[in-house]
Amino acid sequence: MWSPRLADLSTVCIPHATESLALARCCGISRVKKRVMYELVRLPGYGQNDRDGDGGGGVDASWEGDADDEEGGERDLFGEMGTTNGRGKRKVRRHVKLANADKDALTRAREHLTSLWIMTTGYVAKDFMYCPNTTSDGGNDATTPPDANPANPTSQNDAPCTTTTPGLPLAHMRLVHESGLMEEYAFDPVCGFQALMDAPWAGAGFCKGCVDRRKRAWQGAREKAWENLGIWFGLSTVEDGDGE
Ligand SMILES: [Zn+2]
Repeated sequence: MWSPRLADLSTVCIPHATESLALARCCGISRVKKRVMYELVRLPGYGQNDRDGDGGGGVDASWEGDADDEEGGERDLFGEMGTTNGRGKRKVRRHVKLANADKDALTRAREHLTSLWIMTTGYVAKDFMYCPNTTSDGGNDATTPPDANPANPTSQNDAPCTTTTPGLPLAHMRLVHESGLMEEYAFDPVCGFQALMDAPWAGAGFCKGCVDRRKRAWQGAREKAWENLGIWFGLSTVEDGDGE
C-alpha cells in the first residue's frame, strides 16, 4: 500500500497518511515513510485540514496540539486507534497529529518541490529552445539558427517543428499553463512530470525529436525528484528502502 517504488505512485490519493506516519514512527516501520510523507506533502495543508482526504467528518484539524514531539505523537496515535478505554466505556477518538519534526520535513520537501516545479513549468527550458533536427549531428548544439534547415522532418506535415517557430512560448503556455497542468500538480511535481510527458506535444506541432527530448528530460527529473525526496524528508537510505 505504501510502496516506496516510484512505479507504484499514481495520482490516486491514499487516505489516512497521518495515522500511517504515526504508526510507522511508533512501530519502526521506516520503509513506508517515503510514500506516506509524499502523500502528505502533495495535499493542501499537508492533509491536516481534511484528515488526508478522508472526508473530514468534522474532526479537529488543529496542529497546535500536544504532538510536539515523538512522545506526543505516539500518545495521540493510541488515542486515534480508539479501542475501548478499559472500563467498557465508549470509544476514545482522538486525533493523530503530525510531530514537529515531520512538519519541518514536509515543509523542507515542499520548498524543494515548489522550486523544482516552477523552474520546470514557468517557462521553456533552455534545452527545449532548439530542435534536434536542425543540427547536423542531431545533438544539442544550439549554435545552429532555428530556421537553418526548413526541410527538417516534422511529425505530421511539412510545417516546421514548433520549436523552430515564434510559436514556441505560446505552445508551452497553452499546454502547461492554460491547460491547468501547472496549477494541478503544484504540490505533486512527481506526478506532474508524468503529466508533462503525457501532454499532446506532437499535436502542438513538435517533431518527434523534440517530443522525445522532453520526455527523456522529464522522466529523468521525475526519477531524480523521487530519489531526492528521501533526503528532503530526512530519511536514511535504509528508510528510503526502494533500492532504486
Ligand atoms: Zn523539433
